[in-house]
Amino acid sequence: MSSTTTSRATTPLTGTPVVPGVVLGPVVRPAGAVRLPDAASAETLPEAAREEERARFTAAADAVAGRLAARAAAATGMTAEVLSATAGLARDRGLLGAVEQRIATGVPAAVATVQAAQQFVDVFTSLGGVMAERVTDVRDVRDRVVAELTGQGEPGAPAPDTPSVLLADDLAPADTAGLDPARILGLATRLGGTTSHTAIIARQLNLPLVVAVEGLDAVPEGATVLLDAEEGTVTVDPEPSSAGAQVEAARRAAEALAGYRGPAATRDGVAVPVYANVQDGAGTRAAMAAHAEGVGLFRTELAFLGRAAEPTVEEQAAGYAEVFEAAAGRRVVLRTLDAGSDKPLEFATPPEEANPALGVRGLRVARRDPGLLDRQLDAVAEAARRTGSTPWVMAPMVATVGEAVDFAARVRDRGLVPGIMVEVPSVALLADRFLQHVDFLSIGTNDLSQYALAADRLSADLADLTDPWQPALLALVAATAAAGRRAGKPVGVCGEAAADPLLACVLAGLGVTSLSCAAPAVAGVGARLAAVDSAACREAADAALAADDPRAARAAARAALTRG
Ligand code: PEP
Ligand code: MG
Repeated sequence: MSSTTTSRATTPLTGTPVVPGVVLGPVVRPAGAVRLPDAASAETLPEAAREEERARFTAAADAVAGRLAARAAAATGMTAEVLSATAGLARDRGLLGAVEQRIATGVPAAVATVQAAQQFVDVFTSLGGVMAERVTDVRDVRDRVVAELTGQGEPGAPAPDTPSVLLADDLAPADTAGLDPARILGLATRLGGTTSHTAIIARQLNLPLVVAVEGLDAVPEGATVLLDAEEGTVTVDPEPSSAGAQVEAARRAAEALAGYRGPAATRDGVAVPVYANVQDGAGTRAAMAAHAEGVGLFRTELAFLGRAAEPTVEEQAAGYAEVFEAAAGRRVVLRTLDAGSDKPLEFATPPEEANPALGVRGLRVARRDPGLLDRQLDAVAEAARRTGSTPWVMAPMVATVGEAVDFAARVRDRGLVPGIMVEVPSVALLADRFLQHVDFLSIGTNDLSQYALAADRLSADLADLTDPWQPALLALVAATAAAGRRAGKPVGVCGEAAADPLLACVLAGLGVTSLSCAAPAVAGVGARLAAVDSAACREAADAALAADDPRAARAAARAALTRG
């Protein structure tokens, strides 16, 4: 869907498309920033008033946590997780204690909240990397508590009467989770990456999203914009009839998706199964209802975030069996615990690493504690026995052939099918050798781009580098898929790249044999594949590989697929 240029329309602002869709509407911005108190002019509270002030603060923090927890209870999946994590921060003993200590010395509650939050922001900022998203959460909780204490309205997501397009600098994940799709048609942010929590939640809500849009600040509230989240553009004051036609075409395309039933194949009949990424039984049931052909990535670690102790083999077996049962005989690819970095597990992750993304994460945890991996594999084998299924089991963050050999032996010993994720460029480079030892590969493009482009996947400032259309990432995918073809073994993609319908066609053209994405993206990917021939996919893949940057790769692939 390309924007029609007319003398009326301004040049579109460009960004990175994340969740597809085309919408038109007036601009709204997040509710005005919460007015924070001025610490310098705050008077010291008399001693007699301090206990009452402390109680007022506790009540405010409680109200904020309660509201977030109630929203979490009404949500599912990652949305629920993000809301509970933010609610947890509003109940965090460290943060609450730091505020109370200040109140005890006579600092008014609102000022104490700002000061204590700043202390946490400074610590998280100095830790860097993985803690970046926590800074947004701390500021979010600070603003909510100050708003509660000072009688300002709840900050965050607006709920306009006229359906609107939300433009923001960035949104806290909790704000994104609170958006009402009946009132917010789509969103564009100046910052934000394609693999951030905000992006993952927008995908779950099926809200068109473009991130990293330059020049968004200058668009006034109330202006009409065309948000084209297929192209990654925001056009201010577009020519009405062509904008309307684009929206209508996108709406019809979305309607066609409702009829999607799978299985996925190109127009000329080359099967490219589209599986779902899940984290539990409920998610698996939803994915099967969305016509996913199985589970391409079961992220086992997500069930245990926030747990202090390792779950027992029995507890794990019960959870895994629920997923196998829900998949009802379809393929399930289970990933062993990917603890560490952006998903720390208290019982598995070493504390205080300088560079957690380059540290002891994923399979590397088994270096320190091989028993943890063995007990998980025992639980998987037990769940397989109970449900009569044969899951495929893969390890995250493999870097060397030796690691793959060791992992495969442990998996085969238990009658399961071993594979590994391709997240570290070393595996893509030596894929032929790894394939001598394992039965399949699954490319995790989120981490593969992080490691290939040397850019933190959580960094909003570097979102252009971790864009899955980076030609260098596509070249690593191509090399891996070629090795799979030579070995006659499957090579799938399970990173966020597989959720982009256009990129899915390119991945198929590169020789990838299956795709796995969030359940709401399954129909879009399957329907797009059904509309193109495999020869056009190959042509699009060659064109994208030959491009110098993500934007050119997208444009070249789109042109090739339109011709084919
Ligand atoms: C990936 O890295 O692409 C992947 C699928 O794993 P995760 O996003 O869970 O790190
Ligand atoms: Mg990964």
